[in-house]
Amino acid sequence: MTVGIWILGDQLSMTQTALARVIASLKKPPVILIESLRHAQKRPYHRQKLILIWSAMRHFAEELRRSSFPVTYATADDFETPLTAWVKKNGISEIQVMMPSDRPFFQYIQTLKLPCKITLLPNNQFLWSEEEFAQWAKKRKRFLMEDFYREGRRRFGILMAGDKPVGGKWNYDKENRQPPKGKKLKVPRAFWFEPDEITREVIQKVQSLSFPTYGNAEPFRWAVSREGALQVLDYFIEKRLPNFGYYQDAMIAGEETMWHSLISPYLNIGLLHPLEVIQAAERAFFEKRLPINSIEGFIRQILGWREYMRGLYIYLGAEYPEKNWFNHTEPLPDFFWNAEKTNMNCLRQVLIQVQQTGYAHHIQRLMVLSNFALIAGLNPQEVENWFHAAFIDSYDWVMQTNVIGMGLFADGGILASKPYASSANYINRMSNYCQNCQFDWRDRLGENACPFNFLYWNFLERNRDKLKKQGRLSFILANLERMSSEELEIIRKKSTEYLRNFL
Ligand code: FAD
Ligand code: SF4
Repeated sequence: MTVGIWILGDQLSMTQTALARVIASLKKPPVILIESLRHAQKRPYHRQKLILIWSAMRHFAEELRRSSFPVTYATADDFETPLTAWVKKNGISEIQVMMPSDRPFFQYIQTLKLPCKITLLPNNQFLWSEEEFAQWAKKRKRFLMEDFYREGRRRFGILMAGDKPVGGKWNYDKENRQPPKGKKLKVPRAFWFEPDEITREVIQKVQSLSFPTYGNAEPFRWAVSREGALQVLDYFIEKRLPNFGYYQDAMIAGEETMWHSLISPYLNIGLLHPLEVIQAAERAFFEKRLPINSIEGFIRQILGWREYMRGLYIYLGAEYPEKNWFNHTEPLPDFFWNAEKTNMNCLRQVLIQVQQTGYAHHIQRLMVLSNFALIAGLNPQEVENWFHAAFIDSYDWVMQTNVIGMGLFADGGILASKPYASSANYINRMSNYCQNCQFDWRDRLGENACPFNFLYWNFLERNRDKLKKQGRLSFILANLERMSSEELEIIRKKSTEYLRNFL
């Protein structure tokens, strides 16, 4: 029996299950990596995402060759043709591939017609297995992230002193999330790279593609190998992690990345493993005495949110992506694809940044982009498709729960306890975007009223009954009750006009 290993573009790790079992053997099995053009046309992906994946695949192929693997690197239309040719040429009787993280790709693999058997091995790029998560979830009525996170701390022994959390508290969020106002913040520069020869070749390929893509190809500054990803991680731990917590939610025009780690693109394609990142942050706490609020806040993102989102994605099943609890049907405005077309400064700043880099930090994604999509009543599946196309780190497993669940509350509260909807107040408090905007963040009815204000109240009014049953917004809904019918009429009118003009 001859085994061959197929490595997917988001499984670029020497310790992934299919490679780990043969890495020490003297005679290495044949390995294949495939750049498929048809796969790249599923949606108009960000050019930098295509460059990242294809360049990282090519670098990984080189690494495999250096480790004596006979590597076939195919560039083709589909997957089936090069797989079939490779199987025949090498007399392969069984292809082994690690289970894809994304459900659609798993379904696709099952439709392949190949001249040999194909075996899926467990995916080891996450900390919780599918079965372990299901064990945790099926015991409860509500899937509270905080409960899941504490379980993770205990299970993996992270920031624990015996059975108690280090420092006496599980969560230090009260000390985090400070607004940026009135402070002279000095943000350490981000750690970027110059493209090498392999990446430059891929940039050329992507720039000459004949199908629709999105965003700028250059400057391309992401790491494309494990070595580079480790440098980004080290730099983050040294320079950014100490202040990560304090300004985790702050947004400043021109400061795209603040104190964030910029490691999601690497975690999501296997260049970094979540446990090594968590342990590096924990070590920094014990060895360098970094502030516990920053360390705990950062570890919660990976041990908590990331694992929780992926666990729920699998647990909630294939229908979850179709959810639309508010029955929102407005189409995605053009300005999501072309930032110049909006005059709302917050949206413009974040969308320009996404066009240029494929990146926005969590609060820009949640409280600017998806908050707008939620209160404007945009169709959740269209919004999900945009996020999936536009971001450097997007995959089905991370997109569905983050966009459908957390961002748009389209699952009716399976994941979040209340919608992340807010007026301009929040954006003004947590950013400096409003200072240079033609709209007035304080105004909800006048000529210059900020669209976040009237759309927000219009959203609450439209969904008053559903939200009342939800229970968590009673304080805000009481304010809505106090509004006069004239005020509500102006809000309705302004919202309709806005949606007519921009959507
Ligand atoms: P940091 O702020 O430095 O956080 C560290 C790490 O924590 C991240 O690298 C990421 O791996 C993990 N993390 C934190 N929150 C989440 C979360 N909610 N889900 C999964 N991982 C999390 N993350 C993606 O990896 N890909 C996406 O396509 C993506 N889309 C999102 C869309 C929306 C609407 C929202 C609200 C969130 C989305 N996130 C996504 C989660 C989060 O915003 C990004 O992981 C984070 O901004 C990546 O930047 P960073 O590496 O600098 O993160
Ligand atoms: Fe955004 Fe409104 Fe502030 Fe302008 S005023 S930046 S549109 S929140």
